[in-house]
Amino acid sequence: MDIYKHPTFDMACEQFDLVADILQMPQSERVRVKFPKRSLIVAVPVRMDSGEVKVFPGYRVQHHLTLGPTKGGMRFHPDVALGEVAALAMWMSWKCALTGLPYGGAKGGVACNPRTLSLGEVERITRRFTQEIIPFIGPQIDIPAPDVGTNEQTMAWMMDTFSTYQGHAVPSVVTGKPVDLGGSLGRREATGRGVAFLVGRALQAIGMDAAQCTAVVQGYGNVGSIAAQKLARDGLKVIAVSDVDGGLYNANGLDFEKLDAHLAQHRTVLGFTGAEPISNEQLLLLKCDVLVPAALERVITKENAAKIQCRILAEGANGPTTPEADVILQKRDDIFVIPDILCNAGGVVVSYFEWVQDLQSFFWSEAEVMDKLYRILDAAFAQTLAMARKEKLTMRMAALSIGIRRVAEAKRKRGLFP
Ligand code: NAD
Repeated sequence: MDIYKHPTFDMACEQFDLVADILQMPQSERVRVKFPKRSLIVAVPVRMDSGEVKVFPGYRVQHHLTLGPTKGGMRFHPDVALGEVAALAMWMSWKCALTGLPYGGAKGGVACNPRTLSLGEVERITRRFTQEIIPFIGPQIDIPAPDVGTNEQTMAWMMDTFSTYQGHAVPSVVTGKPVDLGGSLGRREATGRGVAFLVGRALQAIGMDAAQCTAVVQGYGNVGSIAAQKLARDGLKVIAVSDVDGGLYNANGLDFEKLDAHLAQHRTVLGFTGAEPISNEQLLLLKCDVLVPAALERVITKENAAKIQCRILAEGANGPTTPEADVILQKRDDIFVIPDILCNAGGVVVSYFEWVQDLQSFFWSEAEVMDKLYRILDAAFAQTLAMARKEKLTMRMAALSIGIRRVAEAKRKRGLFP
């Protein structure tokens, strides 16, 4: 499948191959379970504020259709490419299966830089991209959600564009919408809160006290900011955070109220006076108890894996650790990894709740959402830890094994048509 050639896709395939060996999956089955079912590439022509027309490449990859519609985020970032989107779609499949959701994985995105675009330009990209993929999405086909560079507003525009074409409101076509358009209470916070909840479970598992712990978070976006703030509420001292422009360090803990006020004004963490500046590379190597990469893929590599100084690596981002780095981490028994498909699963779990609420037009309280979310994450964590201990696997291999085995079994039970 050379069309997906990309370092992140190679990484997802390498992980899959290791798990297929662990599961002793027959060779004949591997290709069917591994590669995406279908992908759509579209050209998105958009009139810029200058009057010029620019064409942006857009992608949507649906990994498997065995268990229900597909589900996954939409990324707006300059590096978005088919292979990256395909890898993220594969991970979504294993994540949904690990948490028992009735979905296959999907992912999509547009190669553009929202930081250099006006709001009007982002809206026109979103609407035209949605229009181009209309035959490919729908409440029973594929349900997009926010990811890097997209948010509730992006989902509102997607829902509006899709609904306009249908002639009636279809809130269940996307999740992560504003609550007053059929979004779920707790969805915006779900991924970050889930990360912090699982950090709590990992601390318990290795016998550490949150009140004595420090945390460092890379990427102060949706996932990173909510995770950092919940970790602080849970008693940890959060000593460093960062965004694409750089990081901030304060050994006494960061003041998030002041940082958020600074961000609202400047749209970057840089220049915040309540901390010292540090680089993103330095941030990953800080001595801390909990390290949360919550930005992009492949930041923990064979170059820095041996130098990381945390006790828990909580992967808020998708694919932050390369397979070479994994080999190094595996030899270090001082680091407990909460792998991405478990650690950041809170987002898709509450997206599933949002979809269910939209289909029923019956909405739940935030307490109900959070209670159901934590039960699912708790069960997934317990199953993964039990399997890791019983089979002597890393937490990543255990989580992937549970997810991949469920997808393979579902395919086996449905059989092959014709
Ligand atoms: P976001 O766009 O809200 O935030 C991303 C953050 O990362 C921003 O602060 C950005 O400045 C920073 N960043 C970007 N490039 C960086 C770099 N090179 N170095 C350091 N920081 C950088 O995105 P998000 O929704 O918070 O997603 C973050 C990660 O979490 C992604 O890997 C995404 O796939 C994953 N994830 C998101 C969700 C969700 O619900 N939003 C769910 C599961 C997983």
